[in-house]
This record gives sequence, structure tokens and C-alpha cells, in this order.
Amino acid sequence: MQINELLALQDEQLIKTDSYINGRWCSSETTVAVINPANSQQMIEVSNAGISETELAVKAAKNALKMWSAKSAHERAMLLRHWFNLMMQHQEDLARILTLEQGKPLAEARAEIAYGAAFIEWFAEEGKRIYGDTIPALSADKRIIVVKQPVGVVASITPWNFPNAMIARKAAAALAAGCTFVVRPAIQTPLSALAMAELADRAGIPAGVFNVVIAENAPAIGKILTQHPDIAKFTFTGSTAVGKILLTQCATSIKKVSMELGGNAPFIVFDDADIDAAVEGAITSKFRNAGQTCVCSNRIFVQKAVLAEFTEKFKAAVNVLVSGDGLAENVTIGPLISSRAVSRVNKLVSDSIEAGAHLLLGGNCDPMQSNFYPPTILTNVSNQMPIASNEIFGPVAAIIAFENEQQVISMANDTEYGLAAYFYARDIGRIWRVSEALAFGMVGINDAIISNAAAPFGGVKQSGNGREGSKYGLDDYLEIKYLSMGGINK
Ligand code: ADP
Repeated sequence: MQINELLALQDEQLIKTDSYINGRWCSSETTVAVINPANSQQMIEVSNAGISETELAVKAAKNALKMWSAKSAHERAMLLRHWFNLMMQHQEDLARILTLEQGKPLAEARAEIAYGAAFIEWFAEEGKRIYGDTIPALSADKRIIVVKQPVGVVASITPWNFPNAMIARKAAAALAAGCTFVVRPAIQTPLSALAMAELADRAGIPAGVFNVVIAENAPAIGKILTQHPDIAKFTFTGSTAVGKILLTQCATSIKKVSMELGGNAPFIVFDDADIDAAVEGAITSKFRNAGQTCVCSNRIFVQKAVLAEFTEKFKAAVNVLVSGDGLAENVTIGPLISSRAVSRVNKLVSDSIEAGAHLLLGGNCDPMQSNFYPPTILTNVSNQMPIASNEIFGPVAAIIAFENEQQVISMANDTEYGLAAYFYARDIGRIWRVSEALAFGMVGINDAIISNAAAPFGGVKQSGNGREGSKYGLDDYLEIKYLSMGGINK
């Protein structure tokens, strides 16, 4: 069965249903359904790979490594550039596929394709600048040289909230560095990953360099990807809880790892802020992808002097958000990924109301009815309530009042997470003080859209390690080798 929306693409060949291994489409014995979260209807079935297919993909990546790493950076850049061009040429189709399986509004899906593709373009260029070093030696007869080499086969597990970009961000850096790549995408969103594979194939990326394994059994496949001796590096984007399991598994063979895990972003509005700009920023950073991003504002701290003004303007702005099927052009909030996600958010809201929060807007959702959760505002929230201490992953804004700078910094940092933080202020001294005091990997200052290919994305504390994007992003895929040359004066 294939629904009409999938048939209506400009290029139907972008719809693939089998894993992409060693440059071939590989079916499996069983299948798994892809569901449209906007209407809970099954759209299509995809092959459900198991251990043997995963091992084949690792083998293919291992076999392709010598050929791929031996290519010049320029050759790899040409192929990556071709892949980037194809993604942008097919932006509209890729966006539609993404909205259909993930739910986000089409405008956001288009933006995600451009954002993901931008990492491929960025790393195609950055791969040409993998410089080494020469270091003055202690002896006149010696030279110290540092070269950088690809780590080897990279394996990856990616989430459903950015089905294109989370793969592009990792694969682009890996391939540019000369590594080969195996990804197991989230089972909710296989079609975006397979469409990327189809375009990689058309771009001429050689067989075995980029492999996509579609598999429902994440723990079983995760064990292989974290423990297989032929895999040198494992990179993960997902929850901190799962990240901890995978990190432990990686310990058995001391793999190089990058972990992009959960967040609990503070969004702080100081009394000297431009309140209209802060409201606009809070809307963007809270409600993008229906609140299902690891950098979404999770706790909105507002200084008491501007609390009433901010809350009133924020409520007015939330009121005009439009929930619905992401394919409709006017929609700004799509469904959550599943009814389980709706139940979870619902419980965080009701538990927090029980603990004293005030429901200003929204709430009251029946998870049995649909996957849509109404845009919701809670006020009178404390930093200890469930809505503040958990990663919400839904369209709920929790507003917490504060008195002064010291107090809000300590509340903002009072979390095990350390991914993104945001604050709005105009006083230059305050901007420096707060920027330096926030224990987060990324800080948006009067800015709510912080991620792009030129900037290093990543967290501290239990939000993970490693950086994606920027001139630092290749480091995670490179080993440093030191050459000590003697006998120079012989
Ligand atoms: P989310 O809440 O965003 O789904 P998860 O961390 O649960 O975050 O999922 C992120 C990715 O990790 C998904 O692709 C999921 O299938 C996968 N995953 C979940 N549990 C495991 C596990 N035990 N081992 C390997 N992968 C897992």
C-alpha cells in the first residue's frame, strides 16, 4: 500500500523501502509500517533488517574504507558537492517525505533539508583543510610532524525529530574526513534516510561508503554498531538515557564516541531585554518542531519587573499558532510523533498543575483522540516541577519568575543537562557575565536560532560530548598521528 501523497512526488524514485547496503537495495524477511503522525494512518511498509544485514553493512563499509580514504580531499569534495546539489534540487520532495513521516510543518521540513544539505556543502570544503603540524624538535637531528587520518568505519544511530539533518550532520563530516559510514535511523522516519541514500547513489558516492540499515530492533542493532571490532567510531543523537547505554557498550572495545544527547534549555528574559524580540525568540525556540528538539526552550525564566508584559505578549503570540497537518501551508505546529509522546507531555502538565502551576493556555488533551497537543502555557512554575526538571519534548511553555541575575544563573544551571541556553538582555556587562556563567555548550544571546553548519553544535555535562559542524566538527572523525623523524643529519 502506498498513499497518494507519496505517489504525488515530482520524483517517485526517491521513495525507497529497502536498506541501502554496499550500493544496493536490500530487502529483508519482515517489514515494518511507516505511520503518518498527523492522521495515524499507515503510509507504506519498509524492510525490517536484522543482525545479518547490519553485519553486511559494516563489512561493506570496512571494504570501502581503503578506496575512500585514499581518494584526495578534492575528489571527495566533488562527490559530496554533487550530493549537496541533488539534495537542494530535490528539496521540495525531500521536505514532503519528511513532513509525511515526521509531522513537522512543510516550511520547517524545507528548512531542515537546506540545513542538512548545508553540512554536506560545508564539510566538502572543510575536508580540504585537514592540516597537520610541524613542531620544533628537542634535537637538531630530529623532526616532529603531526598528520591527521580518518578514524575508519563510523557507525551511527539517529533520532526521528530531524530525520534528514541528524544524518547529514554526521555523514558529511565522516565522509569528508575519509571515513565510511553506516547509519541506523529511527524506525519512525526511515524514508528520509533512504531518500538521502538514493541521492548519494546518484551523486556517485561509491558503494559501501554510505550505508543505511532500516531496522526496528534498536537494542540488537545498537549492540552491533557499538561493539563490532571493525567499527572505529560510534556517533549518536538521542536521549541521555539511551546514550548512557550505548556509551557503556562502546567501552568494551574503546570506541571513539560522539554523543549529542538531551537538553533542558533555559530561556532567560532580563528586565533590560527588548521584550518584543524576546517574545519572538521564545516562540521560535519553544514551538519549532512542536517543541520536539533537544535545543528547544524548556524553562522560560522571566525577571519579575517584566513578567506581566512578557506573559501577555507571549500569550497573544501563542494564540495565533495554527495546529494541523504539516502539509497545509498555514500550519505552524504539527502533531507529536506518537500517542505515547502525547500522554507523556500530558502527564508532565497535569503533574505540574497538581504541584501548583497555573494553566494559562492550552492543556487538556486526550491522547486517544489524536497526536496533536495544543500549544500550552504554564505560569507560576518552579524549577523543581516535573515540567521544568524533565525535557518536555512538546509544545508547552513553562514560565518561571525570578528576582535577580545570581538567582537565575543558579536556577538555569541547576540541571544535569548542558546543551543550549538562551537569554535576552541589552546591558553589555550583564551579557558577558551571564554568557560566561551559563554551563551550556551553546548560548543564544538575543538569538533563538543558533544552529548552522559554520557553528560548533554540542553540549556539556550529561548533554554529551563532541561537536558537529564548524571547523571543529572534523576532529571527531580524525586521529592525530605523530611522526618522529630521526637521522636527519646522517
Ligand atoms: P527519542 O526519545 O528521541 O526517541 P531515543 O534515545 O529513545 O530518543 O532514540 C534515539 C534513537 O536511539 C532512535 O533511533 C532509537 O530507535 C534508538 N534507540 C532507542 N533505544 C536504543 C537502544 N537500547 N540501543 C540502541 N538504540 C536505541
